[in-house]
Amino acid sequence: MSTEKKGKKLQIALYWGASCGGCEIGMLDIDEKILDLTAAADIVFWPVALDTKYKDVEALADGSIDVCFFNGGIRNSEAEHLAKLLRKKSKILISFGACAVSGGVPGLANLSNREGTFTTAYLENPSTDNPERHVPKTHMKVKEGELTIPEFYDTLLPLHKVVDVDYFIPGCPPPPWLILDAFNAIVEGKLPEKGSVLAPLKSVCDECRFKLSEKKINTVKRIYELEKIEEKCFLEQSVICMGPATRSGCHGRCMEGNMPCTGCQGILPNALDQGASMISALASILGVEGEQDMTEKEVDALLDKIPDVVGTFYKYTLAASLINRKVMK
Ligand code: SF4
Ligand code: SF4
Ligand code: SF4
Repeated sequence: MSTEKKGKKLQIALYWGASCGGCEIGMLDIDEKILDLTAAADIVFWPVALDTKYKDVEALADGSIDVCFFNGGIRNSEAEHLAKLLRKKSKILISFGACAVSGGVPGLANLSNREGTFTTAYLENPSTDNPERHVPKTHMKVKEGELTIPEFYDTLLPLHKVVDVDYFIPGCPPPPWLILDAFNAIVEGKLPEKGSVLAPLKSVCDECRFKLSEKKINTVKRIYELEKIEEKCFLEQSVICMGPATRSGCHGRCMEGNMPCTGCQGILPNALDQGASMISALASILGVEGEQDMTEKEVDALLDKIPDVVGTFYKYTLAASLINRKVMK
């Protein structure tokens, strides 16, 4: 990365919290436009790609990073420390990708706590060989000295619940065109008001190649239960599609690939809770003949057709939803 014109170029930083790394790859999906980015900006911190250290960031003057793209939620003390440090050092902090914006898939661990997560990951996982039943500890003495690792929290939080965030770019990962639009707005000084989500205001259905069905359905199917995937709205085929409750900006790319939307662009503007919005949309098209005469057992059987309610309706937003986490006794 050239630093020849340092001081004139934008100084940008990229960091990850509880993230799968896909957002880092998503950044590279802008292809050759990465050259425009590097012509306009110096990357001062990007641990996944550059040999930069935390002490390099600590040594920077407050506010000296122009823009920081932070992906991943806050799951441990290291991510929290870096979020606070980068907030202090950055003029603009962007919550980048579904995990930072609303917890994403790692936020589903809010159905459990640290103990439950460790038990599943380190003790009960069939592929884990751990006869001495070790689980991570923040401090451990070994013959070479004392080891310290970050503290793992009970609850995963989206970035804006920990530090003040200026802008949000949704998606899992954010589509390249949204990244480029955001970058151009930064370079041209055309960012909207603080707190904005840098994505269109409509729903995924508005960008979809199919027309949202208004037809009533009387059951719910999983995609593998369809004999044939037809060229029409997935809801009309009785398959749950999160399009009506999800913000647009992805160009309906899952339906281009003949798969229903799972909701990664997150909550719609003015909605309070993505899962609740979708349950409400589904309730309005799910019409079972004689439903008023159904027994409780029959209603349960219908609901059982949705095998993973939280994973279906809150796949990317549980940590930012109204329910937010499961209360553990
Ligand atoms: S938003 Fe998606 S791609 Fe980005 S870190 Fe989270 S899971 Fe990975
Ligand atoms: S529900 Fe899904 S398939 Fe139907 S129009 Fe909306 S996004 Fe497209
Ligand atoms: S269609 Fe849905 S799941 Fe697929 S990229 Fe768009 S918002 Fe994400």
